Amino acid sequence: MIDELLIEAAAVVTMDPDDRILAPGWIHVRDGRIAAVSARPIDVAGARRLDGSGTVAVPGLVNAHTHLFQTLIRGLFEGLPFAEWLRRIYHCGLGLDAEDWRVSAELGAVESLRSGVTTILDHQFLHDGTAWSDAIIGGVRATGARVVLARTSMDLGDLAPAESLEPVDVALAALDDLLGRHRQAIADRTVRVLGGPNTPGVSASDGLCVAAARHAADRGIGLSMHVAESPVALESVARRYGVDGVVRWLDGLDALPVEPSRRTPSTSCPERSRSSPSEESPSPTIQSATSSSAMGSPHYQSCWPRASSLRSGPTVPPATAARTCSRS
Ligand SMILES: [Zn+2]
Repeated sequence: MIDELLIEAAAVVTMDPDDRILAPGWIHVRDGRIAAVSARPIDVAGARRLDGSGTVAVPGLVNAHTHLFQTLIRGLFEGLPFAEWLRRIYHCGLGLDAEDWRVSAELGAVESLRSGVTTILDHQFLHDGTAWSDAIIGGVRATGARVVLARTSMDLGDLAPAESLEPVDVALAALDDLLGRHRQAIADRTVRVLGGPNTPGVSASDGLCVAAARHAADRGIGLSMHVAESPVALESVARRYGVDGVVRWLDGLDALPVEPSRRTPSTSCPERSRSSPSEESPSPTIQSATSSSAMGSPHYQSCWPRASSLRSGPTVPPATAARTCSRS
Protein backbone atom coordinates (compact mmCIF):
# COMPACT_ATOMS: atom_id res chain seq x y z
CA MET A 1 0.00 0.00 0.00
CA ILE A 2 1.39 3.38 -0.99
CA ASP A 3 1.81 5.82 1.89
CA GLU A 4 0.80 9.32 0.86
CA LEU A 5 1.44 12.40 3.00
CA LEU A 6 0.64 16.03 2.31
CA ILE A 7 2.29 18.82 4.28
CA GLU A 8 0.09 21.81 3.69
CA ALA A 9 0.63 25.56 3.86
CA ALA A 10 4.09 25.51 5.43
CA ALA A 11 6.83 27.99 4.56
CA VAL A 12 8.90 25.64 2.41
CA VAL A 13 12.62 26.34 2.06
CA THR A 14 13.23 24.37 -1.12
CA MET A 15 17.03 24.74 -1.48
CA ASP A 16 16.36 24.21 -5.18
CA PRO A 17 18.68 25.74 -7.80
CA ASP A 18 16.86 29.06 -7.45
CA ASP A 19 16.79 28.88 -3.64
CA ARG A 20 13.04 29.44 -3.70
CA ILE A 21 11.08 29.82 -0.50
CA LEU A 22 7.43 28.96 -0.95
CA ALA A 23 5.30 30.66 1.66
CA PRO A 24 2.93 29.05 1.73
CA GLY A 25 4.00 25.84 0.07
CA TRP A 26 2.81 22.26 -0.21
CA ILE A 27 4.87 19.04 -0.07
CA HIS A 28 3.68 15.68 -1.30
CA VAL A 29 5.55 12.73 0.22
CA ARG A 30 5.00 9.31 -1.30
CA ASP A 31 6.42 6.27 0.43
CA GLY A 32 8.92 8.39 2.31
CA ARG A 33 10.19 10.27 -0.72
CA ILE A 34 9.25 13.78 -1.77
CA ALA A 35 7.12 13.46 -4.88
CA ALA A 36 6.27 17.12 -5.41
CA VAL A 37 6.77 20.58 -3.95
CA SER A 38 4.46 23.37 -5.01
CA ALA A 39 3.43 26.92 -4.24
CA ARG A 40 -0.13 25.86 -4.97
CA PRO A 41 -2.25 23.37 -3.07
CA ILE A 42 -1.67 19.72 -3.93
CA ASP A 43 -4.52 17.31 -3.50
CA VAL A 44 -4.01 13.55 -3.29
CA ALA A 45 -7.01 11.39 -2.52
CA GLY A 46 -6.63 9.41 0.66
CA ALA A 47 -3.41 11.14 1.72
CA ARG A 48 -2.64 11.85 5.33
CA ARG A 49 -2.56 15.60 5.86
CA LEU A 50 -0.29 17.62 8.09
CA ASP A 51 -1.15 21.26 8.67
CA GLY A 52 2.14 23.11 8.21
CA SER A 53 0.78 26.60 8.72
CA GLY A 54 2.95 28.60 11.08
CA THR A 55 5.93 26.29 10.55
CA VAL A 56 8.97 26.25 8.30
CA ALA A 57 9.86 23.09 6.37
CA VAL A 58 13.54 22.76 5.48
CA PRO A 59 15.63 19.90 4.09
CA GLY A 60 17.15 17.66 6.72
CA LEU A 61 20.29 19.07 8.29
CA VAL A 62 23.71 17.43 8.20
CA ASN A 63 25.75 16.98 11.36
CA ALA A 64 29.23 16.83 9.84
CA HIS A 65 31.05 15.69 12.96
CA THR A 66 30.08 13.77 16.04
CA HIS A 67 30.98 10.68 18.09
CA LEU A 68 27.83 8.70 18.72
CA PHE A 69 29.36 6.33 21.27
CA GLN A 70 29.51 9.29 23.62
CA THR A 71 25.74 9.47 23.80
CA LEU A 72 25.80 6.87 26.57
CA ILE A 73 28.65 8.51 28.46
CA ARG A 74 27.47 12.08 28.12
CA GLY A 75 28.44 14.28 31.00
CA LEU A 76 31.30 12.16 32.28
CA PHE A 77 34.46 14.00 33.28
CA GLU A 78 33.14 17.37 32.21
CA GLY A 79 35.18 20.26 33.55
CA LEU A 80 38.51 18.56 32.97
CA PRO A 81 41.04 20.07 30.55
CA PHE A 82 40.47 18.74 27.06
CA ALA A 83 43.44 16.36 26.95
CA GLU A 84 42.65 14.90 30.36
CA TRP A 85 38.99 14.53 29.48
CA LEU A 86 39.95 12.77 26.24
CA ARG A 87 42.27 10.28 27.97
CA ARG A 88 39.35 9.13 30.07
CA ILE A 89 36.88 9.06 27.21
CA TYR A 90 39.15 6.67 25.29
CA HIS A 91 38.96 4.18 28.12
CA CYS A 92 35.20 4.56 28.43
CA GLY A 93 34.76 3.80 24.75
CA LEU A 94 36.98 0.76 24.92
CA GLY A 95 34.87 -0.53 27.79
CA LEU A 96 31.70 -0.61 25.72
CA ASP A 97 30.68 -3.69 23.75
CA ALA A 98 29.14 -3.82 20.28
CA GLU A 99 25.59 -3.66 21.59
CA ASP A 100 26.49 -0.60 23.66
CA TRP A 101 27.89 1.04 20.54
CA ARG A 102 24.74 0.20 18.59
CA VAL A 103 22.36 1.47 21.25
CA SER A 104 24.38 4.63 21.78
CA ALA A 105 24.38 5.32 18.04
CA GLU A 106 20.66 4.70 17.74
CA LEU A 107 19.87 6.94 20.69
CA GLY A 108 22.10 9.69 19.33
CA ALA A 109 20.47 9.38 15.93
CA VAL A 110 17.01 9.72 17.46
CA GLU A 111 18.14 12.86 19.24
CA SER A 112 19.55 14.13 15.96
CA LEU A 113 16.32 13.53 14.09
CA ARG A 114 14.41 15.37 16.77
CA SER A 115 16.69 18.33 16.08
CA GLY A 116 16.18 18.21 12.33
CA VAL A 117 19.41 16.37 11.52
CA THR A 118 18.86 13.58 9.02
CA THR A 119 22.45 12.81 7.99
CA ILE A 120 25.07 12.13 10.65
CA LEU A 121 28.82 11.84 10.22
CA ASP A 122 30.27 9.67 12.96
CA HIS A 123 34.02 10.16 13.28
CA GLN A 124 35.03 6.81 14.77
CA PHE A 125 38.46 6.37 16.29
CA LEU A 126 38.04 3.34 18.59
CA HIS A 127 37.61 -0.08 17.04
CA ASP A 128 37.03 -3.75 17.60
CA GLY A 129 37.85 -4.82 14.07
CA THR A 130 34.80 -3.60 12.21
CA ALA A 131 32.23 -4.68 14.82
CA TRP A 132 31.75 -1.24 16.31
CA SER A 133 31.62 0.37 12.85
CA ASP A 134 28.84 -2.00 11.87
CA ALA A 135 27.11 -1.24 15.18
CA ILE A 136 27.17 2.50 14.47
CA ILE A 137 25.86 2.04 10.95
CA GLY A 138 23.15 -0.33 12.15
CA GLY A 139 22.13 1.91 15.02
CA VAL A 140 21.76 4.99 12.88
CA ARG A 141 20.05 3.23 10.01
CA ALA A 142 17.49 1.74 12.41
CA THR A 143 16.17 5.27 12.87
CA GLY A 144 15.94 6.02 9.16
CA ALA A 145 18.71 8.63 9.27
CA ARG A 146 21.59 8.44 6.85
CA VAL A 147 25.08 7.81 8.19
CA VAL A 148 28.54 8.78 7.05
CA LEU A 149 30.89 6.48 8.95
CA ALA A 150 34.42 7.86 9.10
CA ARG A 151 36.54 4.86 10.08
CA THR A 152 39.64 6.73 11.22
CA SER A 153 42.69 5.16 12.84
CA MET A 154 45.50 5.84 15.29
CA ASP A 155 49.11 4.70 15.53
CA LEU A 156 50.61 7.19 18.01
CA GLY A 157 50.09 7.07 21.73
CA ASP A 158 50.46 10.59 23.04
CA LEU A 159 46.91 10.49 24.32
CA ALA A 160 45.36 7.26 23.08
CA PRO A 161 45.84 4.03 25.05
CA ALA A 162 48.11 1.43 23.50
CA GLU A 163 45.28 -1.03 22.86
CA SER A 164 43.54 1.47 20.60
CA LEU A 165 46.50 1.76 18.21
CA GLU A 166 46.64 -0.33 15.05
CA PRO A 167 49.07 -0.86 12.19
CA VAL A 168 48.15 1.12 9.11
CA ASP A 169 47.67 -1.98 6.95
CA VAL A 170 45.20 -3.40 9.47
CA ALA A 171 43.28 -0.13 9.56
CA LEU A 172 43.07 0.18 5.79
CA ALA A 173 42.06 -3.46 5.42
CA ALA A 174 39.21 -2.88 7.86
CA LEU A 175 38.16 0.15 5.85
CA ASP A 176 38.15 -1.89 2.66
CA ASP A 177 36.10 -4.55 4.41
CA LEU A 178 33.47 -1.95 5.35
CA LEU A 179 33.43 -0.51 1.84
CA GLY A 180 32.85 -3.97 0.44
CA ARG A 181 30.19 -5.19 2.84
CA HIS A 182 28.19 -1.95 2.73
CA ARG A 183 28.52 -1.55 -1.02
CA GLN A 184 24.78 -1.75 -1.66
CA ALA A 185 23.86 0.79 1.02
CA ILE A 186 26.60 3.07 -0.29
CA ALA A 187 25.13 2.74 -3.79
CA ASP A 188 21.71 3.50 -2.31
CA ARG A 189 23.20 6.62 -0.71
CA THR A 190 21.99 5.75 2.76
CA VAL A 191 25.50 4.94 3.98
CA ARG A 192 28.84 6.46 3.17
CA VAL A 193 32.22 5.29 4.47
CA LEU A 194 35.25 7.56 4.83
CA GLY A 195 38.76 7.02 6.12
CA GLY A 196 41.19 9.24 7.91
CA PRO A 197 43.92 9.64 10.50
CA ASN A 198 42.13 10.47 13.76
CA THR A 199 44.19 13.40 15.03
CA PRO A 200 47.24 14.03 12.84
CA GLY A 201 50.40 14.59 14.80
CA VAL A 202 48.84 13.50 18.10
CA SER A 203 47.35 10.06 17.48
CA ALA A 204 48.36 9.61 13.85
CA SER A 205 51.90 9.58 12.47
CA ASP A 206 53.13 11.10 9.24
CA GLY A 207 53.15 7.62 7.71
CA LEU A 208 49.54 6.99 8.63
CA CYS A 209 48.44 10.39 7.34
CA VAL A 210 50.10 9.78 3.98
CA ALA A 211 48.80 6.22 3.70
CA ALA A 212 45.25 7.26 4.58
CA ALA A 213 45.27 10.07 2.03
CA ARG A 214 46.56 7.81 -0.74
CA HIS A 215 44.15 5.06 0.15
CA ALA A 216 41.23 7.49 0.12
CA ALA A 217 42.29 8.84 -3.26
CA ASP A 218 42.57 5.31 -4.63
CA ARG A 219 39.12 4.36 -3.38
CA GLY A 220 37.45 7.66 -4.24
CA ILE A 221 36.37 8.23 -0.67
CA GLY A 222 36.79 11.20 1.62
CA LEU A 223 38.79 11.72 4.77
CA SER A 224 37.77 12.93 8.19
CA MET A 225 40.30 14.09 10.75
CA HIS A 226 40.68 16.28 13.79
CA VAL A 227 43.03 19.06 12.77
CA ALA A 228 44.46 21.31 15.47
CA GLU A 229 41.49 20.68 17.73
CA SER A 230 43.59 21.80 20.68
CA PRO A 231 47.00 23.38 21.34
CA VAL A 232 48.24 19.84 22.04
CA ALA A 233 48.18 19.13 18.30
CA LEU A 234 50.20 22.19 17.40
CA GLU A 235 52.73 21.42 20.11
CA SER A 236 52.97 17.77 19.10
CA VAL A 237 53.53 18.52 15.41
CA ALA A 238 56.17 21.12 16.27
CA ARG A 239 57.92 18.74 18.66
CA ARG A 240 57.76 15.60 16.54
CA TYR A 241 58.14 17.04 13.06
CA GLY A 242 59.54 20.54 13.52
CA VAL A 243 56.71 22.24 11.64
CA ASP A 244 54.59 25.10 12.88
CA GLY A 245 51.01 24.34 11.96
CA VAL A 246 49.14 21.12 11.41
CA VAL A 247 47.76 22.07 8.02
CA ARG A 248 51.19 23.21 6.84
CA TRP A 249 52.65 19.90 8.00
CA LEU A 250 49.93 17.86 6.27
CA ASP A 251 50.27 19.94 3.14
CA GLY A 252 53.99 19.28 3.10
CA LEU A 253 53.29 15.56 3.35
CA ASP A 254 50.75 15.80 0.53
CA ALA A 255 48.34 14.22 2.99
CA LEU A 256 45.41 16.57 2.53
CA PRO A 257 42.48 15.21 0.56
CA VAL A 258 43.01 17.31 -2.57
CA GLU A 259 45.38 19.95 -3.80
CA PRO A 260 44.94 23.40 -2.23
CA SER A 261 43.67 25.00 -5.43
CA ARG A 262 40.53 22.88 -5.25
CA ARG A 263 39.65 23.82 -1.71
CA THR A 264 36.59 25.92 -1.20
CA PRO A 265 36.65 28.60 1.47
CA SER A 266 34.26 28.18 4.33
CA THR A 267 33.08 30.48 7.03
CA SER A 268 32.98 27.76 9.64
CA CYS A 269 36.46 26.22 9.35
CA PRO A 270 39.01 28.82 10.35
CA GLU A 271 41.90 26.50 9.62
CA ARG A 272 40.84 25.51 6.15
CA SER A 273 43.14 27.82 4.24
CA ARG A 274 46.86 27.61 4.49
CA SER A 275 47.78 30.05 7.19
CA SER A 276 50.81 31.39 8.95
CA PRO A 277 51.60 29.83 12.31
CA SER A 278 50.25 32.83 14.12
CA GLU A 279 46.99 32.55 12.19
CA GLU A 280 46.57 28.85 12.72
CA SER A 281 44.19 28.33 15.53
CA PRO A 282 42.44 25.31 16.97
CA SER A 283 39.40 24.35 14.98
CA PRO A 284 36.75 21.64 15.18
CA THR A 285 37.59 19.48 12.21
CA ILE A 286 38.69 19.42 8.66
CA GLN A 287 37.21 16.73 6.58
CA SER A 288 36.56 15.89 3.05
CA ALA A 289 32.87 16.47 3.03
CA THR A 290 30.75 17.15 0.03
CA SER A 291 29.64 19.81 -2.34
CA SER A 292 27.05 18.42 -4.68
CA SER A 293 25.69 15.61 -2.58
CA ALA A 294 25.81 14.62 1.03
CA MET A 295 26.62 11.10 -0.06
CA GLY A 296 28.37 11.92 -3.29
CA SER A 297 31.73 13.02 -4.55
CA PRO A 298 34.51 13.64 -2.06
CA HIS A 299 35.37 17.29 -2.55
CA TYR A 300 37.33 19.12 0.09
CA GLN A 301 34.56 21.47 0.90
CA SER A 302 33.22 22.29 4.26
CA CYS A 303 32.83 21.29 7.86
CA TRP A 304 29.17 22.03 7.44
CA PRO A 305 27.86 21.11 4.01
CA ARG A 306 25.06 23.27 2.72
CA ALA A 307 21.63 21.90 3.33
CA SER A 308 21.31 21.92 -0.44
CA SER A 309 23.67 18.97 -0.40
CA LEU A 310 20.57 16.94 0.27
CA ARG A 311 18.92 18.25 -2.85
CA SER A 312 19.62 15.22 -4.97
CA GLY A 313 19.59 12.62 -2.24
CA PRO A 314 16.86 10.34 -0.99
CA THR A 315 14.20 12.36 0.64
CA VAL A 316 13.13 12.29 4.22
CA PRO A 317 10.33 14.14 5.91
CA PRO A 318 11.33 17.80 6.05
CA ALA A 319 12.51 19.05 9.38
CA THR A 320 10.96 22.00 11.08
CA ALA A 321 13.72 22.63 13.59
CA ALA A 322 17.29 23.61 12.94
CA ARG A 323 20.08 22.71 15.29
CA THR A 324 23.27 20.77 14.88
CA CYS A 325 25.45 19.43 17.59
CA SER A 326 29.08 18.52 17.50
CA ARG A 327 31.66 17.63 20.02
CA SER A 328 35.21 17.05 19.08
ZN1 LIG B 1 35.64 14.91 17.22
